[in-house]
Amino acid sequence: MTISFDTETDPSLDTLALHAGAYPDPATGALLTPIYQSTTYVLEAVGSDKGFTYSRTANPTVSALERRLAALEGAEYASCFGTGLGATTALALALLQAGDRAVLSDVVYGGTVRLFQKILSKFGVESEFVDAADPAAWEEALRRPARLVFVETPANPTLKLTDLEVVARLAHGAGAVVVVDNTLLTPVLQRPLDLGADIVLHSTTKFIEGHNATLGGALITRDAGLHEKMTFLRNAIGAIQSPFNAWLTLQGVKTLPLRMERHSANALRVARFLESHPRVTRILYPGLESFPQYELARRQQGSGGALMAFEVEGGTEAGVRVMNGVRLCALAENLGAAETLVTHPASMTHAAVPVEQRLATGITDGLIRISVGLENPDDIIADLRRALEA
Ligand code: PLP
Repeated sequence: MTISFDTETDPSLDTLALHAGAYPDPATGALLTPIYQSTTYVLEAVGSDKGFTYSRTANPTVSALERRLAALEGAEYASCFGTGLGATTALALALLQAGDRAVLSDVVYGGTVRLFQKILSKFGVESEFVDAADPAAWEEALRRPARLVFVETPANPTLKLTDLEVVARLAHGAGAVVVVDNTLLTPVLQRPLDLGADIVLHSTTKFIEGHNATLGGALITRDAGLHEKMTFLRNAIGAIQSPFNAWLTLQGVKTLPLRMERHSANALRVARFLESHPRVTRILYPGLESFPQYELARRQQGSGGALMAFEVEGGTEAGVRVMNGVRLCALAENLGAAETLVTHPASMTHAAVPVEQRLATGITDGLIRISVGLENPDDIIADLRRALEA
């Protein structure tokens, strides 16, 4: 028996998240795609295989996850990697060579900055970081040819937004491939390929898997040629995801639409609480009317998402006290999980970014990032209130 849904009627994300790309096992009827924990596959004859030869090239459990992620982003192709940064590295190695120029958002995950500034520079790749919120800055940067434009919106951790339609148009004019890191919103809340991006990147470590259980990355595209380049590179450097992590991610992603809805609703409650608290001096959350790019957020993303950043009176010392004072929220270096996580970007996620660059982009020493989880929002607020008022 097979489970089918009518693709003619354009199934919703709720249905795709549960069913896309996975079929009951033809040998046993097992509903869940098995963990194909095998490095190698027996050929029927020389030159004749069943689509799999060696698990560094492709693995059936990983392929099931790839089909599901492609369906969720409205794409044809996906390739999964051992980590999100593994995906970024593969992307860069697949598309760039010495003498090429990459233009990136000024606020991106710290590991992305480190990869371009410290590693790719050694191989002759030039990187320029531009004010991602300012279309004029992109226009200026893209007067010269570029091979790659890399955007993270909202950007981690200041939540700065980029108008994807505008930047994709400018980037294509400069001859660049446009990559959007959609980790923070997922396809449930933002659809970069519909707005002109060529490739979507995910750290599946975050919301896609959603349970703080696996590391993983994905590159998703509608372009067969780009996909071919990325899977060739993945095989060449040996960066594929493990079947066990792919299997866990296949289970986690089933509840992605439900989780994103609840993450956002909880986050809005928490953001409103922080905005009204007398000790909070600055709060950045795209779902708040006070957010500088609120209109763009309303137009480009389904809701505010789970992430916010704030500062408290008393600067760094006071901020650190709040972070050390939470009890229900965990002080931890991750985001996108069921549990609420509080992070100090300056010493944790963005410690690899040069200090001047970090401060110039608003990642101050006192900035507190929260990835709001799925606990009852009253309990999250009570914990934050206690930490703020201690
Ligand atoms: N992209 C974003 C927005 C991230 O926050 C992270 C990690 O924090 C990454 C990419 C890298 O992903 P990974 O930790 O899975 O290598």
